[in-house]
Amino acid sequence: MRLHEYQAQRILTRYGVPIPRGKVAFSVEEVRQIAERLGKRVVLKAQVLTGGRGRAGGIRLADDAAEAERLAGHMFGMDINGYRVSKILVDEAIEIEQEVYLGLAIDRSAARPVILASAEGGTKFAKVARDAPERVYRTTIDPLLGLRVYQVRELAYHIGLSRAQAEEFVSIALQLYRAFADNDALLAEINPLVICPGGDMVSLDARMIIDDNALFRRCGLIDLRDEGQETWAEQLARRYSINYVKLSGQVGCLANGAGLAMATMDLLRKYDIRPANFVDFGGGAGVEKVKVALRLAFADRPQVLLINVFGGVTCCDEVAQGILAARKESPLTAPLVVRLAGRNAQAGRALLARSGFHMVDSSVEAVRQVVDLVNGEQ
Ligand code: GDP
Ligand code: MN
Repeated sequence: MRLHEYQAQRILTRYGVPIPRGKVAFSVEEVRQIAERLGKRVVLKAQVLTGGRGRAGGIRLADDAAEAERLAGHMFGMDINGYRVSKILVDEAIEIEQEVYLGLAIDRSAARPVILASAEGGTKFAKVARDAPERVYRTTIDPLLGLRVYQVRELAYHIGLSRAQAEEFVSIALQLYRAFADNDALLAEINPLVICPGGDMVSLDARMIIDDNALFRRCGLIDLRDEGQETWAEQLARRYSINYVKLSGQVGCLANGAGLAMATMDLLRKYDIRPANFVDFGGGAGVEKVKVALRLAFADRPQVLLINVFGGVTCCDEVAQGILAARKESPLTAPLVVRLAGRNAQAGRALLARSGFHMVDSSVEAVRQVVDLVNGEQ
């Protein structure tokens, strides 16, 4: 679950991280009131769950409340990378001497958290991370020991902070780590972490992603979900507990269980076919859930849809019924390649065969057939 900047900043400030004074507004009128109360130059920040707001006109400085009101009038309703602006964070403007980057993430290959820092923060960071990754310094963290002070000091030294700045940097990094660990975050980053002319440091923008699998024990965080910023497909998937990831290839990929779904995608890749999505409806799915999973898989307009099911808890006849129910509801917009194996496979295959579907026996055979269909040989 991705959090908005204002939500992440509010969490960080509870751990002691300095943030600008400010408040989120839902209307032009509120923007003016908050700007008046702050009584100085303010920055208006569109709260959308996407990056690159600055370039898209989602970050604007205003000298006074009247200008803030005028700018907010243009910002509300604006579209930024497909996200509509319905909330604006109004913060006091901060004078910037230097912008650095500080982030915590999970390094999946090391199976550990990692802390990252760069002297080039703010809007420059994305480019540096892409073109000159060696200028982003990183250290893995032992989760049993937690982040150690010496690790952060070393990073501070690498990014060229003075001794006084380093001490401030260390305390912010430790606070950020506590916020990251306490909230089961997959990512917690401050970009930019600003060094002000007087030497103070302030988090000017924060981003946090909370592990969805931990939300059951982080009840306080669930309310932070902004459903208005999710696509209908994301909402539907969550409601039915379907793992759905939109990808950019040409073949829809539907399976039961993440392992089988990944193996199927690996097979596709072996034949140079890119998946259009990853839809995993898990174990024991009933007719309704399978039907929804098909709708999701078709949402990305695949050229072919591959359904790969191995029934353990899942009953293949129910999967077959789900496929038929989906077709009854709306015509299928791409050919299906279906492999059903395991529990009640025979019954499921009979059901589908009777309705004119062609069945295959194994994953490999299924993928070969997908390849033929994509290459138009059938
Ligand atoms: P992002 O582009 O979506 O990551 O939005 P940020 O909140 O990180 O802002 C982008 C850039 O706008 C920052 O790197 C700053 O250079 C600038 N900016 C944001 N807030 C302020 C502010 O209060 N004062 C000044 N001078 N610049 C700001
Ligand atoms: Mn930023």
